[in-house]
Amino acid sequence: MKISIIGAGVAGLSAGCYLRMNDFETEIFERHSTFGGLCTHWQRDGYNFESGLQWVLGTNENNPFYHLWSELIDMSAIRFINHDVRMEIEVKETHDNTGDNVFHLYTNLNKLETYMLSIAPEDGKVIRRLIRSIRKIQTLEIPPMIKEVPKILPWYKKIGYIKYLPLLLFLQKVKPETNVTFARKLKNPFLKEAFKLLFDGEEMSLLVITLPLAYNDLKSTGYPVGGSAALVRPILHKYLELGGKIRYETEVVKIITEKKHATGILLKSGELITADIVISAADWHFTLFSALEGKFIDSTIKKLKNQEQLKVYPSVFMVSLGVAQTFQNHPHFLRFPLLRPLVSPDGSRYDRMEVHINNYDPTHAPVGKTVISVSFYSHFADFWITLRNSNQELYREEKKKFADVVIALLDEKLGKLKNKIEVIDIATPATFQRYTNNWKGSVQGWFPGKNIIAVTPVKNELPGLKDFYFIGHWTQPGGGLPVALKSARDTAKLICYRNGITFSVC
Ligand SMILES: Cc1cc2nc3c(=O)[nH]c(=O)nc-3n(C[C@H](O)[C@H](O)[C@H](O)COP(=O)(O)OP(=O)(O)OC[C@H]3O[C@@H](n4cnc5c(N)ncnc54)[C@H](O)[C@@H]3O)c2cc1C
Repeated sequence: MKISIIGAGVAGLSAGCYLRMNDFETEIFERHSTFGGLCTHWQRDGYNFESGLQWVLGTNENNPFYHLWSELIDMSAIRFINHDVRMEIEVKETHDNTGDNVFHLYTNLNKLETYMLSIAPEDGKVIRRLIRSIRKIQTLEIPPMIKEVPKILPWYKKIGYIKYLPLLLFLQKVKPETNVTFARKLKNPFLKEAFKLLFDGEEMSLLVITLPLAYNDLKSTGYPVGGSAALVRPILHKYLELGGKIRYETEVVKIITEKKHATGILLKSGELITADIVISAADWHFTLFSALEGKFIDSTIKKLKNQEQLKVYPSVFMVSLGVAQTFQNHPHFLRFPLLRPLVSPDGSRYDRMEVHINNYDPTHAPVGKTVISVSFYSHFADFWITLRNSNQELYREEKKKFADVVIALLDEKLGKLKNKIEVIDIATPATFQRYTNNWKGSVQGWFPGKNIIAVTPVKNELPGLKDFYFIGHWTQPGGGLPVALKSARDTAKLICYRNGITFSVC
C-alpha cells in the first residue's frame, strides 16, 4: 500500500518511520531543500543559528515521551542539558528581603517553593497550593494515545481508559486559572508582577507553565546538545534506514480526490503522484483551503479558519548574533523591562525584551564566542509577509532598522557588545512562513491562550474525505515537538488498524 506524506518536519518524518516499520510504501515530499521544518538550524561564518528549540519533552526515562522518542532514535546517545533556572524575569518591583529585582524561575520544585516563600511569606497558602498542583501533575499518567481510542477500541477495552479520568478531571479543575488570575491572588507586589510577566504580558492558561515545571523538576525537559539537528537528523536516518523515500525541493500544490477518497497529490512541477493514502504533515490552512480547496470542511473548521475558537500561535521576529565573547556568568534566558516601549514596524508594542544567551552548547559557536538571540513574538505576521511579497528592498530596510534598535538595547544591557558582533542574522515572520509554509508564520500552530481546551477541536481526518489524514503541530493547541511526534504515531497506528495490521515498532 502506497502512502504519500507532505512535509519532512518532525511529524512527517516520524509518520514515515512508523509506517515503514509496518511495511507501508512511503514517500515524503518536502518543498524545502532540507528536513526538520520549524525544528531547524543554519550555519553562518562558523556560528550555528537555531530556529529556537529550547527544550524537548521526554528527555528522561521516567517520561512516557522518552519511550516514544526511543522508538525512533537512540536517546541515550544524546546529551541533554537540564537548566537549574528556566528563566530570569526582571521586574520593576524590588522584593524587600533581598533587594533583588529578578525573579528566578527555578526548575527544582523544592527550591522554587522555598524561594517563593522567602520572598512572600504572606502568600504561603497560595504558593503551597501552586506547588502541590504541579506535584499532582507529576503523578498523573498521560495516555499513550488519545485520538484513535474512540475509533479503534471495542467498548470493553475503552473501560481501561478510566485510569486516565483523574487527568481529565484535574485539567477541568485547573483550566480556568491563568497567570493573570493567579497573580491576582498574590499579595506580594514583586511576585504578582513576576507572574503577570510569565508570558511577556500575555494572559495564558497557567497550565502552560505548570506542565513544563512539573517535568522540569523531573529532568524530563532537557535541551539536546547540538540543538535541533541532534534530535531530527537521527529521525531522518532512521526513516532512510527503514527504506523510506524522500524528495526535497518538491512542492505539493494539490491533494487529488475522487469520489470522496484522496487518491494522490499534484506537484508544482505538474507531476501527478498516485497514492492509496495521503497524509499531510504540512500547514493546516494550506492543507484544507489550498491543497483541498476548502471542499471538506464543517462548521468547526469554519470557526477555526476565522480564529473564533482558537487563535493562531504568534510568529517571531528573531535577531540572532554571533558575538566574539563568552557570557559564562550571564543567565541563559532572561526577560527585562525596557525604559521606553519599543514599537515594531508591524505595529506590535513591546515593553520588554527576551534574550537567549546560548552559553551552554559548545556546538553553536567557536571557542570563546557565543550565539545570542532576541525574540519578539508577533500577531501581525501578515505585515511582514505582505511587505516582503510587495517590496523586498523596503522589507530588508525595515527589518534592519528594527534589528539595529534591538542591538543598541542589547548593547546597553549586556555591556558593550556591539564591536564584538561578527554575524547578524534576522528572521521575520515572513522567513518562518517562507521556509515552512506555516500559516501566518506560526511557530507552534494554534495558540493555547487563556481558554486551553482538553479535547482539541482539530481533527486528523476531514468530513467527507476518506484515505486522508492530517498530522503535526496544528492538531493540538500549543503544538511543539511532542504533538508532532504523537499525532504521527497515533495516525500510523490508526492506519494499521484499518488495514488489519497489528501495529509494531522496530
Ligand atoms: C522559535 C521557536 C521555538 C520553538 N521552541 C520549541 C521548544 O523549545 N520545544 C518544542 O517542543 N517545540 C518548539 N518549537 C515548535 C516546534 O519546532 C514545532 O511545533 C514543530 O517542529 C512542528 O513540527 P511539524 O512537523 O508539525 O511542522 P513543521 O515543522 O512546520 O513541518 C512542516 C513541513 O512541511 C513542509 N511543507 C509545507 N508545505 C508543503 C508543501 N506544499 N509541499 C511540500 N512540503 C511542504 C515544510 O517545508 C516543513 O518542512 C519552537 C518553534 C520555533 C520556531
